[in-house]
Amino acid sequence: TQHLLARVADHQQLGAFVHVDADAALAAAQAADARRAAGDASALTGVPIAHKDIFVTAGAPTTAGSKMLKGYQSPFDATVVARLSQAGMVSLGKLNCDEFAMGSANENSAWGPALNPWDRARVPGGSSGGSATAVAARLLPAATGTDTGGSIRQPASFTGITGIKPTYGRCSRYGMIAFASSLDQAGPMARSAEDCALLLSAMSGFDERDATSAERPAEDFHRQMLEQRAGATAAKPLQGLRIGLPKEFFPDALAADVNGAVRGALAELEKLGATLVEVSLPRTELSIPVYYIIAPAEASSNLQRYDGVRYGHRAEQYGDLIDMYKKTRAQGFGAEVKRRIMIGTYVLSHGYYDAYYLQAQKLRRMIADDFQRCFQDCDLIAGPVAPSVAWQLGAKSDDPVAAYLADIFTLPASLAGLPGMSIPAGFGEARMPVGLQLIGNYFAEGQLLHTAHAFQ
Ligand code: GLN
Repeated sequence: TQHLLARVADHQQLGAFVHVDADAALAAAQAADARRAAGDASALTGVPIAHKDIFVTAGAPTTAGSKMLKGYQSPFDATVVARLSQAGMVSLGKLNCDEFAMGSANENSAWGPALNPWDRARVPGGSSGGSATAVAARLLPAATGTDTGGSIRQPASFTGITGIKPTYGRCSRYGMIAFASSLDQAGPMARSAEDCALLLSAMSGFDERDATSAERPAEDFHRQMLEQRAGATAAKPLQGLRIGLPKEFFPDALAADVNGAVRGALAELEKLGATLVEVSLPRTELSIPVYYIIAPAEASSNLQRYDGVRYGHRAEQYGDLIDMYKKTRAQGFGAEVKRRIMIGTYVLSHGYYDAYYLQAQKLRRMIADDFQRCFQDCDLIAGPVAPSVAWQLGAKSDDPVAAYLADIFTLPASLAGLPGMSIPAGFGEARMPVGLQLIGNYFAEGQLLHTAHAFQ
């Protein structure tokens, strides 16, 4: 903990952290030592972590990357945070992210960007950019992230780390500041699938305080991983595994460097015993308009609560109540958040609901059905995480649609609620990392983690 606190202090210019509490971290590390001495420790006891600033924490401020929540202090911990601290993990503080998790580059944070440690002129991805930067720069062995449309997988891919977005409902959303409630999921970001397995076991499980929490028994993904490995032949640990490659995930427009790194990783998986089969997800491109209708619709509803009365920021000077709302929201929200609220209220409004929101919901169902058809021919699906390596800072900040289009490969699994992972596949242009995406069927996190572990 001391070593990493010093590294964090030395690397402030990376913009990974928005809040560091050294005293609290050292006290937690001491408590973890005492637990270890008393024989009451798990593999995670005493291991440093930090949380994406979208999880509420009782011991540290929570802003969701927004001026709207400047100075906000939660009275309680998010379930995910509470579970990791019960396991004895030591939190160093809070990590930078896009405002209300809306973004793909961490450039929508009110507190400035996070930088990609592989090339500081490039973005680390988003919205969990601070988490990715911190793990990739070895400021932390692990961090929490959230993924609504790719925010764990894409920054993991851009920074060469491993991250998993679980099945929707696997991790509690209690205390996770809501962006798009039917899509939001928490997950771990770390150096390896093995570390992710340890973290996910501790983070996940039923929570009666989240109405969409899956009622499933807790699982020990790490033990499953070790057992699966022990049961497999050493040379061909993936013997019998069928990996589906959706042809729509390898379009002509896919950058050659990304294609090369992903194909190289797929050849490695074949050597480990997997067979590759071609499958089709015909509505892959449609997942972009579908997501960018549904997510803003839900966001416009979720963000109504920031009214200047209940949380955080309030305009200093105003006339009547309506004027107070207007000024508070005009000052507190950034440009991307305002854009999404406007899109969301538009697609939900009378006269447009049927044309946009209802059509998007129907397509969402069809996208989920397409995956089930694929899973008749394969066990897992693989492809790129993103169509390019991390881009230069500012390259897409004036062009929101260009940023939306880059979400094409992560959105389908999000809309279907399926678990997805990013594992380092190799390097592309300018020696920047490229991630391989693995998508499993519902609650197949164990199989995803086993496959990733065999590969790593
Ligand atoms: N890039 C997507 C968006 O801007 C996904 C963000 C996320 O997963 N939180 O909405």
